[in-house]
Formats: sequence, C-alpha cells, structure tokens
Amino acid sequence: MKGEGRAVRTRSPQETRRLGELLGSLVARPTLIWLAGDLGAGKTCFTQGLGQGLGVPADEPVTSPSYTLMNHYQGRLPLYHFDLYRLSHPDDLEDLGFAEYLDGDGVTVVEWADRFDDRQREGLTIRISRVDEHTRHIDLLPGAEDEALLVEELLRNWHKEIPS
Ligand code: ADP
Ligand code: MG
Repeated sequence: MKGEGRAVRTRSPQETRRLGELLGSLVARPTLIWLAGDLGAGKTCFTQGLGQGLGVPADEPVTSPSYTLMNHYQGRLPLYHFDLYRLSHPDDLEDLGFAEYLDGDGVTVVEWADRFDDRQREGLTIRISRVDEHTRHIDLLPGAEDEALLVEELLRNWHKEIPS
C-alpha cells in the first residue's frame, strides 16, 4: 500500500496549513499520522492546520511539543501531538505510554517519524520535503485502505482550491 502514495506541492506556509486543515476536517475516526521531514520542512505548520480542521479552539494554539514530547488538544476528536526531535532514549516514549496512542481514540500526529522504528508501521505517513524557500513537496502515503480513501478525498478538496 505504501507504494500507492500521492503527492502535492505547497507554495507557502499558508497552503501547507490549509492542507492540514482540510485533512483535519475530513478525519472521521481515530487516525495515526506520521510526519517525516527535516527541520523547517513544515511539520508543525501542517499540524497547526490539522488542529484547526479538527476544531481545536483557536485560543489553544498548536505549538511544537519539543520539550514535553506530547501535547494534547481537544477537538472533534482528541489530537495527540508528539514530537520525537528531542527523544534521547526509546524508554522516554514508553514512559509516556506511546504505544497506547498508536491505536488510540483520537488523531495521533508524530513529528520526526524517522526517529521511530518504522518496520511494519501502520498509519498515514506524510513526508514533507523542501523544494525551495517557499515550496514544499508533500508525499501522502496511506498504510491502509481507509487512509487511501481519506487521501483521495483530501486531494479532491485540495485541487478544487489550489490549482496544480
Ligand atoms: P518543522 O516542524 O518541520 O520543523 P515548521 O513547521 O516549524 O517545520 O517550520 C516550517 C518553516 O518553513 C516555517 O518557518 C515556514 O514559514 C517556512 N515555510 C516556507 N514555505 C513553506 C511551505 N510551503 N510550507 C510550510 N512551511 C513553509
Ligand atoms: Mg516541528
């Protein structure tokens, strides 16, 4: 299934945020989202839009949980936002009960997916790569059938707004 990914390009942080917002508005069931990409790629930017689309209150801005490893927000579904950037030891994740969130009751977003062992990883992987200062290439790699449908719906909505 990982080979059947789709890709989009965003040309500003606002567009990346909007892509996340569309995904957040379309998610209807607990979903695991892995965000891969270098520092400054746009992972947090995407997650901020996702929170907006999930209906996280605007007075609760989504910020990078670098120091806490995880932030929890309440939207239509709970949003669990992990950032593994500062992860020094896998035990830190176990202490957080990370495994529970991989199959949890909400939308779990994991920044720095590459720091997590990805063998037999389930979920939707989103890989953001910098093309130039304002442009990002975003690969959408569904791990399962319902995620593939979600990606198709996302792209339908996206292309209605953003010409390719
Ligand atoms: P990450 O969480 O991947 O480290 P951030 O989302 O914190 O990255 O930061 C992305 C940076 O890249 C921001 O400074 C943002 O303004 C800039 N940027 C420029 N173009 C884009 C784009 N098309 N999409 C997302 N971010 C962009
Ligand atoms: Mg970040």
